[in-house]
This record gives sequence, structure tokens and C-alpha cells, in this order.
Amino acid sequence: MFLPGTVTILLFAYMGLRSRLRILRRSVEASQRLQNLFDAVFEGIVVHDNGLILDANESFAAIFGYQRDEVIGMHVGQFVIPEVKAFALEKIKLESEQPYEVTGLKKDGTQISIEINGKMHTVQGRRIRLAAVSDITERKKLEQNRVLYEASQEAIKMRDEFLSIASHELKTPLTNIKLQTQMAIRGLQKHGLSSLDPARMKAFIEQTDRQADRLTRLVEEMLDVSRISAGKLGIAHESFDLCELVNEVAAAFEAVAKQAGSDLKFSCPERCPIWADRFRIEQVLSNLFSNAVKYGNGKPIQVRVEQEGDGKTRIVVEDQGIGIPSENQERIFRRFERAVSARKISGLGLGLYISKYIVEAHGGTIQVESLPGSGTRFSVLLPADNARSSV
Ligand code: ADP
Repeated sequence: MFLPGTVTILLFAYMGLRSRLRILRRSVEASQRLQNLFDAVFEGIVVHDNGLILDANESFAAIFGYQRDEVIGMHVGQFVIPEVKAFALEKIKLESEQPYEVTGLKKDGTQISIEINGKMHTVQGRRIRLAAVSDITERKKLEQNRVLYEASQEAIKMRDEFLSIASHELKTPLTNIKLQTQMAIRGLQKHGLSSLDPARMKAFIEQTDRQADRLTRLVEEMLDVSRISAGKLGIAHESFDLCELVNEVAAAFEAVAKQAGSDLKFSCPERCPIWADRFRIEQVLSNLFSNAVKYGNGKPIQVRVEQEGDGKTRIVVEDQGIGIPSENQERIFRRFERAVSARKISGLGLGLYISKYIVEAHGGTIQVESLPGSGTRFSVLLPADNARSSV
């Protein structure tokens, strides 16, 4: 009978030990392989428990300029700039799985753009978060450059379009003036001074004067735009009666409105004292009136000045013309922006931009309501007269 002797017992023990060692070695190798894989991943990977870093790979540490050992035990909040820390911690608290971009903070204080993609896992009953972190600084820079490039291309295109529209706009009154003067010279050469008909002479001078006014207006608009860009369009407040001014501007526009077939009606309170820049408010009124005539389809134009209960003053200019599609109603207040083609109705697309600047410089607002084909209402709200102490 075979009885296990000491050797046999030792042999079995050794064999058991060897197989246990083999299992242990295999698991060490597997975990090493896992670690290698973890470290070989190009993206930064961090495992944390409510912000406290349990593990991170080499890439994560490298992205932020640390050694891997240093980051273990740190808080994830230390890897973003203070301004976005609360935002990032909120994402963790909400267990968000949506990727997001924030400004990361390197060990040496450099700021970088990072993208974080987090996911929750339960390991042995413990909720931990695994987050992949990528340094997207270069990508962001490229994107910014692309946006800048596109913006500069757009600006060049706009400048070229503006130059062509501006030269056309300037040329029209100049051509008219030239034609008028040439005709007058020819008449003088043929028939002499005595042959000049006073009525025709008056009409000629008036027309030349109107064209000169148009030229002046165009040049002034261009100059105002550069004044605004340079921050040099100043507002000089004074006390005056707005209704008196509206009357004056409306009277100046009556003839042009009539010529376009539009009846210009206005209603004003008895007196409407305001504290504003008279010259600049006149410019706003002229722009709104001339637009109402230009785009008003020869239909009646209504102008109202109303005093609001809180001391504010409202100017409303309303036409029944071509209207403005809703998608263009915001854009027309920007520089060079127009909602009609230059061939249809001429203009530089600067009047509303300048008007908005002037109204806002007074602390007021300008708004538009419009329905294509039905008409347009511009409404300017100016602050109360007692606002003079705050300006
Ligand atoms: P401009 O009239 O020289 O083009 P504005 O800045 O005064 O420049 O106006 C910008 C654009 O807004 C105009 O080109 C036009 O398309 C639109 N617009 C302004 N006023 C009216 C209006 N009363 N009715 C319809 N469209 C208007």
C-alpha cells in the first residue's frame, strides 16, 4: 500500500504552490499589460472618486506637465482654471456623460484648451468616474485662425462691395451736377447771358443744390462711420424742443415726400423739451424720414412724438411701404447692411448703423417692426429729460 511520505507531501505542496505562483504571475502580467495599455493610450485618462484622483495614465500627467506619481491624490479641480472649476465640478456631480471643453491649467501656470469626456463606473460597489482628457489647444488655434481668416475674407469682400456701391452713389449726383452745368454752359455759349430764363435758372440752381446736399450727406455718412470706429463721434447735450425739430425736419422733407407721392403727417404734443444733441437727433430724424420716403412706395408716412409716463420720449416713424423681412430686421442696423439690392434702391447701408449709435449714445433705444408689403415702423425711445444729471 502506498502511503504518502514526506517527499510526496512536499512534492504536492510544491506543485500547488507552483500553480498558485503561475496564477499570481499571470495576473501580475495581465495587470502590467493593462497598465502598459493604460499608459500607451494617447489620450489622458484619469480615474477619480468625486474629484480625488485614484489613478491616471502617463498622457494625463504629460498634458498638464506633471509626473504620473505627482497627480495621484490630487484633485481634478486643480487641473482647470479657477473660473471654470465650479462648472467642471458640477459636471462631475451631475454624472454628465456629454463631452465638454474648458480651459485647463498646467503645472507651470500655462492655460490650455481641453476636452473632457467622462463616464461613471461602479467598481466593487464604489462609484468612480473615468474621464478621457484631450489637449485641443492646437485644434482650437486652428479653428480660431480659420474663423479669423473667414472674417478677414468677409471684411475684404464687404470693403470691395462698399467701394463699388460708394463710388456709384457718389458718381450719381456728380454726373447730374456735371450734366446741369454743361447744359448751362452750352446755353450761355449759344445765346449769351441775356437769354437765360430766370425760372429755369432757379430750377437749375435748386437741382444742383440738392445734388450737392446728397453728396455732402454721403460723405458725412462715411466720415461718421470712421468717427464711430475711432470712438470720436461725440454727443453734445443741450436743452431743446424736440417737436420744433421734428417740425423743421418734416418741413424740409415735405417736397421730397410729395415728389415720391407720399403724404407726410405728423403729430406732436404742444411742447416736448429734451436734453440731447440737437444736431445728431436731427440726423436720426433725417435718416428715418428719408428711408420712409425711399422705401415707402409713395404711400402716406406718419410721424409721432409721444411723451411716455416715465418721462421718456418716443419718436415713431411709420410708412406703408415695402417692409423688411423678419430675418433682416436685426442686421439692417449693422454697418453696410441692406435688405434691398443696390440696383433697386440706392443707399450705402450706413444710416441706421449711425442712427443706432447716436440713439444708444444718448442712453436710448431704436427698434423696428415691419411686415413685408405692409410697411415699417421705427421707434426711437429717448431717456427722460431728468437723465441730464447722469450724462
Ligand atoms: P440705406 O438706406 O442707405 O441702405 P440704412 O442704414 O438707412 O441704409 O438702411 C439699411 C437698410 O434697411 C436699407 O437698405 C433697407 O433695406 C432697410 N430699410 C431701412 N428703412 C426702411 C424702411 N422704412 N422700409 C423698408 N426697408 C427699410
